[in-house]
Amino acid sequence: MTASSALALLRAERHVSASALTSYLTCPAAYRYRYILQFKPTHRPGPLAFGGAVHEALAQFYLSLRDRKPEPSLEAIQAAFSAALKRSFSESPPVLLDNDQTEESLLETGLGILRIFHEAAPRPYRVVGVEEPFSVEIHDPDTGEVPPVKLVGAFDVVAQEEDGRYAVIEHKTAAKRWAEDRLANDHQVTAYTLAAPSMGLGDATVQLQILLKQKTPALSIHRLTRSEQDQRDFLRVACGVLKAIDAGAYYPIKGWQCRSCQYAGPCLAG
Ligand code: SF4
Repeated sequence: MTASSALALLRAERHVSASALTSYLTCPAAYRYRYILQFKPTHRPGPLAFGGAVHEALAQFYLSLRDRKPEPSLEAIQAAFSAALKRSFSESPPVLLDNDQTEESLLETGLGILRIFHEAAPRPYRVVGVEEPFSVEIHDPDTGEVPPVKLVGAFDVVAQEEDGRYAVIEHKTAAKRWAEDRLANDHQVTAYTLAAPSMGLGDATVQLQILLKQKTPALSIHRLTRSEQDQRDFLRVACGVLKAIDAGAYYPIKGWQCRSCQYAGPCLAG
């Protein structure tokens, strides 16, 4: 079974992902349009299309390492990115760009950050998984209650260090460096540290590789861990969101997120 069909199988059960939790916390109304009503989005934000194309190129890079094939050249991963970006622009919904951006400028930025990645990213001792799906039980740390909803997702890359320990590598693209509090509180990282032991990866660290879309592209690498307290706090948030969803609490939160909201049409009409 491929990683994507294994993930589809896990998603067939009642589940929630770290990004769905973040979506609810950002705007419950947008969460409802996307996950409950399954409305078609009006557009794809440019950063999403860009990040997806970078992910696709990096997945090809790590798949070669996992399969013990020769490491792909810079030109090969740039070509994979370019093809994925082009495909994204030819598909529906349309990609929505900022005023100062074009498809060509995104292409140029992507080629630059992949050059930095190829030059500077540390090569794992061994790659054991790419887009590796996971599913883990959520339990309420205060009541011990276990909701009938699993936390599901996929690790970008699972690597094994020389000493046998595992690391989950996660790639992000961003316009600027992440602040310390964002690094310390990112839900996806905490979800990975909760899922890793149940997937046989022990207390794996999470290595966050942030590719910075700056004039001079850069790669910022963070090795992150989470305490038991961090994990309990995450579980409290997850259980709170699940209870709010069960109660049908889908209120709009107006703010910066409305600027690129894919569901602004039905929201404003409602
Ligand atoms: S337009 Fe704003 S308030 Fe409405 S769904 Fe989108 S993010 Fe939420």
